Amino acid sequence: MAKTSECCSHGPAGRLSWELLELVEDRLSAYAERLRRDKQGGGYKMTASTFDEIGRVLREHQNFAVLSHVRPDGDALGSQLALALSLQKLGKDVRVWNEDGTLEKYSFLPRAELLTKPPVTGLDFDVAIALDTAIQNRLGNTLAAVASAKIWINIDHHLSNPGYGDLVIVDPSAPATGEIIFKLIKSQGLPFDHDIAENLYAAISTDTGSFQYPKTSACTFEIAEELVRDGNLDVGKISQQLYESYPRRRLELLRELLQTTRFIEQDRIASFTLSLKTAGDLRVLPEDNEGLIDHLRAIRSVIVAVFFEELTDGKVRVSMRSKDEAVDVCAICQKFGGGGHTLAAGARIRGSLAEVEEKVLEEVREVVKRGS
Ligand code: AMP
Ligand code: MN
Ligand code: MN
Repeated sequence: MAKTSECCSHGPAGRLSWELLELVEDRLSAYAERLRRDKQGGGYKMTASTFDEIGRVLREHQNFAVLSHVRPDGDALGSQLALALSLQKLGKDVRVWNEDGTLEKYSFLPRAELLTKPPVTGLDFDVAIALDTAIQNRLGNTLAAVASAKIWINIDHHLSNPGYGDLVIVDPSAPATGEIIFKLIKSQGLPFDHDIAENLYAAISTDTGSFQYPKTSACTFEIAEELVRDGNLDVGKISQQLYESYPRRRLELLRELLQTTRFIEQDRIASFTLSLKTAGDLRVLPEDNEGLIDHLRAIRSVIVAVFFEELTDGKVRVSMRSKDEAVDVCAICQKFGGGGHTLAAGARIRGSLAEVEEKVLEEVREVVKRGS
């Protein structure tokens, strides 16, 4: 069980309850250890590592690849940059690779230029670190480029993460991978500065929907407080760069999406679709649609929002959001080979827009009926 940093230590509990908490934590650690031994040799290797174990590996090795998932979001990129910058300050050689490289939208992140696409012929690394990546093949073409890495570290917050890698911290209670990276850095006394703080703030702000989603906890605000104070962050400026700097075409895209909007099951399910033709006509970039699904989720009657996007490889990218814990969109997406979190998940499904729309909405309809 990963030890949390100081930031969450002042709860409502008095001394006695705090001791009780420590006892519970010890029991959980023992359970995690048992789970680790039980699962080894099974279908997959599930390990629960401590921050100390990961800290040791970080100190004892020299060459690192820090990676995250395809079509990265603010959490993926902010976490990558924060950990990479901390490792660099520790004197390590670090490559920060992503299949998509740097995105225009996130180019304001401190040291964003470090983020590059991997070279065609990979490199040798002591350690490869996958961040915010639910399944290993979501690393895209970075996976092959680091194939010879001796040690794999997997740090993530997706419920569906099977625990690939040699050292694993998967904490589904964390609202963002950035929160776990913060705890790792603080608990291990790793280097920390303004640029690292700004990247972590961007990671946490984006994955919590600006500190709104249900997993946003007192601990999240304590971490944000520490980032803002110790990192001397300008919150207004970061928020403007994150949420008020979209290109005009994003609004034009939203206008098109709204034309395709469908409501079913007494308006409890809402969806819209983006065809390749529309995307081409508007010259949208993949990153432009991040967050647009929130317009559907924001309707009072809506429990599940679904976004269908036609891809060039004969698949459809499905994004799903739920407002009700009883309607687990991660489970729905797993049925189609995807994954994610209970309230936010996705999948890439082979078929035409119409075919995928029909079979996915049918599944969502069943789950919403059962959940209500
Ligand atoms: P998105 O709708 O793309 O913002 O994704 C919602 C959440 O589900 C994110 O945390 C993603 O990392 C995760 N996710 C999206 N697509 C997949 C997939 N094909 N497999 C596993 N997880 C996914
Ligand atoms: Mn992500
Ligand atoms: Mn995330």
